[in-house]
Amino acid sequence: MLTDAEMNRVEDIKARFKTIYGSDPAMVLRAPGRVNLIGEHTDYNDGFVLPAAIERSVLIAASHRSDRIVNGFAANYNRSTNFSLDKLEHATETSDRWSNYMRAMAWTLTGEGMRLQGVNLVVAGDVPLGSGLSSSAAMLVACGLLFSEAAGSRLDPVRLALLAQKAEREFVGVNVGIMDQYISALGKQHNALLIDTRSLTYKAVPLPSQGVSIVIADTNKRRGLVESEYNTRRSECEQAVSILKRFLPSITALRDVSVEEFKQYEQELPEPVRSRARHVITEDARTLQMADALSKGDIELCGKLMNESHESLRQDYAVSCKELDSLVEAARSIPGVYGARMTGAGFGGCTVSLVADEAVPDFEERVPKLYKNATGLDASLLFTGAAEGAGRLL
Ligand code: ADP
Ligand code: MG
Repeated sequence: MLTDAEMNRVEDIKARFKTIYGSDPAMVLRAPGRVNLIGEHTDYNDGFVLPAAIERSVLIAASHRSDRIVNGFAANYNRSTNFSLDKLEHATETSDRWSNYMRAMAWTLTGEGMRLQGVNLVVAGDVPLGSGLSSSAAMLVACGLLFSEAAGSRLDPVRLALLAQKAEREFVGVNVGIMDQYISALGKQHNALLIDTRSLTYKAVPLPSQGVSIVIADTNKRRGLVESEYNTRRSECEQAVSILKRFLPSITALRDVSVEEFKQYEQELPEPVRSRARHVITEDARTLQMADALSKGDIELCGKLMNESHESLRQDYAVSCKELDSLVEAARSIPGVYGARMTGAGFGGCTVSLVADEAVPDFEERVPKLYKNATGLDASLLFTGAAEGAGRLL
């Protein structure tokens, strides 16, 4: 199930744990990052998303303590933290900030009535931090597994995802949707998941077993602005619902509005609310269409839908940026690329492309050069299959 690289990382983290704490860990937990193939900014509109877990993950090696102290070392930051489960507060020291996600999960589980146990732990991840591949969700889900397993209970994965979302919203203070935590907790190897973010159910959609690769490219442009813009988009979507409700009284979210209904009533919406709603409503339709196309092996259509998704995010939702557009353009210029789009919240982060296997060397060779010429930045490429969701390895 694990890739060779991940198996090596498991051995590394166990050794690291032993060096620091003097004994073998009793548990190793793993939670992957994710890439969203299509369905962007639909999850907080009760809509559909089509992500896959990636072959990059956060690993935690841990052992039980008899008290209520959490002792942690983060290999990515080369820093340790120490806090009591009886006094769950935000880390104030800059050097300790990384531990807020861990504290957030402990706080949320405690709030659910779970009696947590102290632990010694080492955490190490290879999901790039802050690149939009959701290292945060991977961290939260891994911590959720850690604390629940250490307390001797096993959470249902949908509940784990909901609690991780709650932790990010209420303790960390980022108003996220459910997609990232859900796919990290429930991902299926070799499959993308078509997730209905209203019912919290999914349909697994197998990815082609050969002939086509998922290529992620990081703009290496750190996302600025995201939070305030994100909140603005959310409230624009709410405004669209409240206006459209006059004509379509049964709707509670943009998910309930069909493309035909939108065309009938769009003139009632002021700009930019109209454009924002158009993106969400057409993106839901594209996501359902892409799941269908993928299951039929129609990769040409998948690529076309991804291209359309990017244009909609760029023009109607206005969450792209020069770097994302340049990288998408560079990818599309390579023969054998079916489609390319920004993935994640936008304003930086990564793109995702569907690439014919034989075109991958060309992509690797030319896309970073084209991107560098256009922006002066280096793109990092990441090749991945769809990985299994979170779990306990030891
Ligand atoms: P992303 O786009 O990767 O989700 P975020 O800013 O949302 O970026 O989340 C990054 C945060 O998640 C980090 O600042 C850190 O607090 C936490 N995190 C992620 N991976 C790790 C890790 N391997 N070790 C410690 N903390 C991590
Ligand atoms: Mg995040």
